[in-house]
Amino acid sequence: MTSPQTRPATFAGTAIIVGASLSGLMTALSLSRIGMSVTMLERSDDNGRTGASLSAVEGMLERLTGKPPTADQPAMRGGIQTWVAVHDCLRAAVDRDPAIEVVHHAQVRELGQNQHHAWAEACDGQVFAADMVIGADGYRSVVRRFVAPDRPDASFAGYLIWLGISDETAISPPYPSGFAYHEAEGYCFLGAPLPGVDGSTESGRRRVSWAWYDGGCDTLLRSTGAVVDRVVQRTLRADEIPDDIYAELAAKAERLWPDPWREAIHDCVARHSIIATPTAEYVPERLARGRLCLVGDAAHLPTPMTAMGLRSAFDDALALADAISLSNRGNSSLPETLASYERARLTIAKQIVLAGRNFSRDFMRTARSRRVA
Ligand SMILES: Cc1cc2nc3c(=O)[nH]c(=O)nc-3n(C[C@H](O)[C@H](O)[C@H](O)COP(=O)(O)OP(=O)(O)OC[C@H]3O[C@@H](n4cnc5c(N)ncnc54)[C@H](O)[C@@H]3O)c2cc1C
Repeated sequence: MTSPQTRPATFAGTAIIVGASLSGLMTALSLSRIGMSVTMLERSDDNGRTGASLSAVEGMLERLTGKPPTADQPAMRGGIQTWVAVHDCLRAAVDRDPAIEVVHHAQVRELGQNQHHAWAEACDGQVFAADMVIGADGYRSVVRRFVAPDRPDASFAGYLIWLGISDETAISPPYPSGFAYHEAEGYCFLGAPLPGVDGSTESGRRRVSWAWYDGGCDTLLRSTGAVVDRVVQRTLRADEIPDDIYAELAAKAERLWPDPWREAIHDCVARHSIIATPTAEYVPERLARGRLCLVGDAAHLPTPMTAMGLRSAFDDALALADAISLSNRGNSSLPETLASYERARLTIAKQIVLAGRNFSRDFMRTARSRRVA
């Protein structure tokens, strides 16, 4: 390990955040609000980043920044949004904030800490040091290995989720007015309308997103290396899904799901535009160790069926900033402060993941029994 080069620290302190996706961006904004100077280390660039749809909470951005949005700022709408819309809104707020720096192509591989600092070392050997390092690096978190070395990995829940998005023009009216939930033959299905690419919420000009939970794809996931042993490695891109699997999805959709969802699936199959996300879960035992802590999916990973990932990451971001500002007033040490963040968040985060795990177990039991029958 090379010795850390400390960035110039403001009195209110410095933080490094590993990962500049939704939870990293929210945490950066909440820490900047209390006067901290933040460096975000992100392994990727911003090109071609996509994700599923999410339920966002109205007013999230205002609560993170403490400021009302200005006329030229993209608003964070409540309700179902694409990952990209939520990301772009948070990222625009981060880019306007002079206390936050985002460093791309910085893949962190090592972490360290001593009495005075914590540091992160990127794969190119660069070392970034600050008062604390926060892991917002998702389900395969590197920071988690240092916070919880005895339980570093999230585990595969046994099923994947097929995900697609279509324009409403690809389906027939009447257009969906809200959420749809269906179960059949051991599968389950969620559908929802989304704003159109231009933000339109007018019926007929929106998009629809769907998620199909499937407990029978072990061979595909293991042959592509998306899951190895009990550990989820990655999401399968649309171009990695073989033609015969697309054909199988189309045939099953015909049998299992009602319109307009069946039409939406056929549209995605025709465009070869479906991704497959293996579900991982992580029940946390710790969220902090010394000057290191975790937020978002790195900290606690529930099945997407809970629809709580974004909300939990938002609550982490606020709780961490609260713990730090309280300790600044009470003169606690940083490790004590991060321990109080852990106390504030651990129980509820654990309950959310465990509730989701009950769903996962029931779902897999049903999926297996339907396959045997
Ligand atoms: C299919 C699906 C559906 C979902 N639906 C919902 C929903 O309806 N409602 C909801 O609230 N939540 C939902 N979620 C969960 C939600 O998407 C996440 O909880 C939320 O996006 C927070 O993610 P994150 O920022 O913690 O992690 P991630 O999005 O995984 O981001 C981690 C970031 O860290 C970077 N990174 C990783 N390792 C390193 C490294 N070593 N060095 C530097 N950078 C690194 C990555 O490139 C990435 O940018 C869903 C998730 C999935 C998969």
